[in-house]
Amino acid sequence: GSTIGVLGGGQLGRMMALAGRAMGYRFITLDPTVDSPCGQVADRQIVAAYHDIEAARMLSEQSDVITYEFENVDAEVTELLMEESYVPQGSRLLYITQHRLREKRAIESAGVKVAPYAQIASLAQLREELGRLGTPSVLKTATGGYDGKGQWIIQSVAEAEEAYEELSRAGTELVLEQFIDFDKEISVIAARNPRGEVKVFPAAENIHVNKILHLSMVPARIEETVQQEAEQLAIQIAESLNVVGLIAVEMFVTHEGELYVNELAPRPHNSGHYTMEACKTSQFEQHMRAICNLPLGSTDLLTPVVMVNVLGQHVEPVMDWIVKPESEQHDKGITTKLHMYGKHDAKEDRKMGHLNVLAPSVEEALRWIEASDIWKTSQ
Ligand code: ATP
Ligand code: MG
Ligand code: MG
Repeated sequence: GSTIGVLGGGQLGRMMALAGRAMGYRFITLDPTVDSPCGQVADRQIVAAYHDIEAARMLSEQSDVITYEFENVDAEVTELLMEESYVPQGSRLLYITQHRLREKRAIESAGVKVAPYAQIASLAQLREELGRLGTPSVLKTATGGYDGKGQWIIQSVAEAEEAYEELSRAGTELVLEQFIDFDKEISVIAARNPRGEVKVFPAAENIHVNKILHLSMVPARIEETVQQEAEQLAIQIAESLNVVGLIAVEMFVTHEGELYVNELAPRPHNSGHYTMEACKTSQFEQHMRAICNLPLGSTDLLTPVVMVNVLGQHVEPVMDWIVKPESEQHDKGITTKLHMYGKHDAKEDRKMGHLNVLAPSVEEALRWIEASDIWKTSQ
């Protein structure tokens, strides 16, 4: 079997490797943390910084195919990997999704709407654009943000200076976006292989708590026509950007049923973890199929599902629950599947695992989650 090299050793790499091993592939990962989530299940881990050129060279020497599990891969490293090995996903998609402005332009040129936005280079310009886009508006660093870090919701022009000072400290460009008063947040994950076959997973409805994904539910509680349009937009983006592998498309649904794309992720996505038991093919298997140019698997939904994240503060209650005989939830039509990532320190808000709750309906799964009390305190 071929060896797949994974840049990054986090949980996304771990679940790629778990899916890929079942398909007969070997794995090697590069990550600075010894015993990383991916390293624990891979054949080997190179312990080094992501931007370490020598380590990247070692990875490419030992891999037939290279993939990544995060988008902030150093351009120099990507270039080297492309020269020395096979990187089916290429570097262009990384270049685009590493920068919010480039990403927005690419989405627009795929014919898809984003929230009205402006590049911000000075405080004066921020004030001017706040006048044009109105308040509230969201100021974001163009690069490096995740879990809502590097963002400021500006409620009035009076906040402009403080927000500008704070976000400028990161030293990256800034983007101002109009605040979309959305009804729902959803995401659609599309897969495309090098021969141009495209498949999308069913749209997930996402609930964030403290800007961190808390729940993803499928089917999303939106009109069928909106769902179809969302899936079509994801296909449009995947084709327009010549994606190979996965692309996750986060969107806002307005009260009128209009769709705006928020951002893209060129990799498996937290909101796609529901596919592990609820779809005929998981997002991780699909990613392997796409980068290895195999036919894509069926994305059919097998059952309604709610995925709930296990953050650091939820580990104790989850572990108390899992040892109880009644944690084996196969009655009342509910099946629970716990996935833990093998991370060592359960810090607050750190993603430690997730639970897929399969049920006859999303409502029943939500009721089970509420009744379990695991996510009750300090969500
Ligand atoms: P992720 O962890 O998903 O990568 P991120 O830090 O890149 O997050 P975004 O996805 O841009 O951040 O924003 C985080 C959340 O903030 C969104 O899911 C949404 O709830 C809210 N948000 C961001 N931009 C807007 C906007 N323009 N209008 C309304 N809400 C927004
Ligand atoms: Mg993001
Ligand atoms: Mg996001």
